[in-house]
Amino acid sequence: MSNRKNWKEHKGTVLHSVDSFDVIDCNTCGFKHIIPIPSEDELREIYKHDYHVKDKPLMLEHQLEDKEWLESVNDARLATLEKILGSTGKFIDIGSGNGFLLGQAQKRGWTVKGIEPSDKAAEYSCSQGLDVTCSVFDKECADSLELFDVVHLGDVMEHVPSPKDILDLCNQVLRPGGLIAVSVPNEYTPIQKILTEDMDVRPWWVAPPHHLNYFDKESLEGLLSRTGFTPCHSDVSFPMELFLLMGKNYLDDPSLGRECHAMRKELELKLTKSGNKDFLDKLYGCFAEVGMGRTVLVIAQKNSEKE
Ligand SMILES: [Zn+2]
Repeated sequence: MSNRKNWKEHKGTVLHSVDSFDVIDCNTCGFKHIIPIPSEDELREIYKHDYHVKDKPLMLEHQLEDKEWLESVNDARLATLEKILGSTGKFIDIGSGNGFLLGQAQKRGWTVKGIEPSDKAAEYSCSQGLDVTCSVFDKECADSLELFDVVHLGDVMEHVPSPKDILDLCNQVLRPGGLIAVSVPNEYTPIQKILTEDMDVRPWWVAPPHHLNYFDKESLEGLLSRTGFTPCHSDVSFPMELFLLMGKNYLDDPSLGRECHAMRKELELKLTKSGNKDFLDKLYGCFAEVGMGRTVLVIAQKNSEKE
């Protein structure tokens, strides 16, 4: 029996209900999201004061601890962009966090700019010599910006009330032929379904109001295609929920989560440092083929004329 719900123009089958929110597979939007959708004002407050301070108190410490691995992941992403674009150029990171990606892009010869809503993260980035503005990425912010060759959106789309509006603004600040790189958590994966439907594990990834939207490769590519972009590359990160199937229940144990994360880092660094990055990419490509991967990255090119 399918349980369908409507909220404003959004309608679809209810997949999960957590607190006072339902996740629907929205027919209108073409991706899964919660209803009701919180207002911009409610979200602004959450991110300005809460996110890095309350919900992610160790984020900076963890990033410093993960430095070598993060650099390896970021370098691979920047190298992919440089390969498609044929050069470096002007790079903007929307939701630039502590500025790690921007710092590395700058080192590789990109001209960089960051937009970050968290005041603490923006302050930290500026203290590292980066050009980062503390702001939400809205119409006013986009209007104040010049044109870029690459727009990067990492871990943003799951948090915003209207992903389509954000992509429209990204389109506005991109030159024709420029690239957009979007990474999101990959949700409602086959393993998540097995764990929740056959093994009584709670749907841990459903996290309103911080996570409003739940994408996979297909729904993200679909949304990009409907927003004036042509997808040209995708890859995924290690499917962390494999650890849950291997008996490592990190969901309620952050230290076990760090341990699993350390194992994934070791796998990737070992293969990369020993000259086997191509094999690593092939392996993760196989994960992607069966819908696996903790996060999915899609790179898409701005169409020369908006359809
Ligand atoms: Zn919708």
